[in-house]
Amino acid sequence: MNAEIIGVGSELLLGQIANTNAQFISKGLAEIGVNVYYHTVVGDNQDRLRQAIETAEKRADLIIYTGGLGPTKDDLTKETVAEYIGKTLITDHKSMANIEDYFEKISRKMTENNRKQALVIEGAEVFPNHHGMAPGMAVSHGEHIHVLLPGPPSEMQPMYKDYLEPFLLKDMGTRERIESRILRFFGIGESQLETDIEDILDAQTNPTIAPLAANGEVTLRITAKHETSAGAEEMIRKAEEQILSRVGDYFYGYNDTTLMKEAIALLKERKWTISAAESLTGGMFQEELTGIPGAGLILKGGIVCYTNEAKQKLLQVSDSTIKEHGVVSEACAIEMAENIKKLLGSDVGISFTGVAGPDELEGNPVGTVFVGLALPGREPFAKKLNLGGMREGNRVRSVKYGCHFLLH
Ligand code: ATP
Ligand code: MG
Repeated sequence: MNAEIIGVGSELLLGQIANTNAQFISKGLAEIGVNVYYHTVVGDNQDRLRQAIETAEKRADLIIYTGGLGPTKDDLTKETVAEYIGKTLITDHKSMANIEDYFEKISRKMTENNRKQALVIEGAEVFPNHHGMAPGMAVSHGEHIHVLLPGPPSEMQPMYKDYLEPFLLKDMGTRERIESRILRFFGIGESQLETDIEDILDAQTNPTIAPLAANGEVTLRITAKHETSAGAEEMIRKAEEQILSRVGDYFYGYNDTTLMKEAIALLKERKWTISAAESLTGGMFQEELTGIPGAGLILKGGIVCYTNEAKQKLLQVSDSTIKEHGVVSEACAIEMAENIKKLLGSDVGISFTGVAGPDELEGNPVGTVFVGLALPGREPFAKKLNLGGMREGNRVRSVKYGCHFLLH
């Protein structure tokens, strides 16, 4: 099956918004093995939309529209598609009830044009909208399937996942099943990882293995095709086992997880609390940690100790450490981690000190960072990083390394 995605909306053509809907849908379709050959964008104009439909029918089996399902005059997608395929619009009673409920909830009076949102193309499979009013729908026209989805991503995305994806998989039921899994690595460069598993990458056909590097991390997407989902899963499992036997030391999780989420999971599992002493990261570690629900059970607190003075006054880093080793040093990182752990009575203390850039510090080049860790039942230690790079990236990567050292 191949697809075309049509974004409907003049705001897209005016550059007021980016076509993130097409990106989201393309990614989803790629995962289930539907080839997307075209992205089209057309304004809120009936003639041009009609032309776009005509063109799309010549080159795609599946045509997915987003936008233009709303109650206003410029929302024309349903009307135009219905007219093109020679169908009428009928009221969908479930959708009407949903809209009435919605207005009751917000205690506002429904206007006549809101009723328009409950209209669907006759014969269509209706996708309920749990995050807004306009339902989506899928309707056949000869060999083609036309799918209409609402424009707002907050409505479109859950509808895609909950209704359109299962609908398409059911339609493709007689064909192969496609499963995929992402393995996430940190602390190893893309070229090193590819070298370590080169023969596996060279031999791949099914499953396929696609490496991608971004934000200092490397991911491998394993995609397998098989008659059954279970069969495809089993193929993925085998490929994963083979890969992890080589580079498992750098592996930290699956799919959409992050190093911080994994670090939190580990702390929770061990029932450990943590506190942080942050110099070059200026609170970024704690900011990211507190952004994740459940952080309250784990984080005791921390100190941003940017200057030498703050390291001494707030954290009692000793004079001698600073004089003999400087603040960008293993000794200082260890003391920071130990002292914050003692001060707040947490199980774990973590510290970050280093040179974010752009200027050198104490004769250390930009990107020299020490991450200190004081863990239960273990001598405190610090790891040195040579990140090079730019200021912002160095700070972000320091935080990631902090999580990485916690995990390994
Ligand atoms: P509504 O009921 O809100 O009017 P609609 O289905 O009629 O929804 P549009 O009016 O076309 O959709 O768009 C509503 C909003 O959705 C836009 O202002 C924009 O913020 C967002 N949107 C629309 N199309 C896209 C797109 N292709 N990518 C990302 N966002 C989009
Ligand atoms: Mg609209």
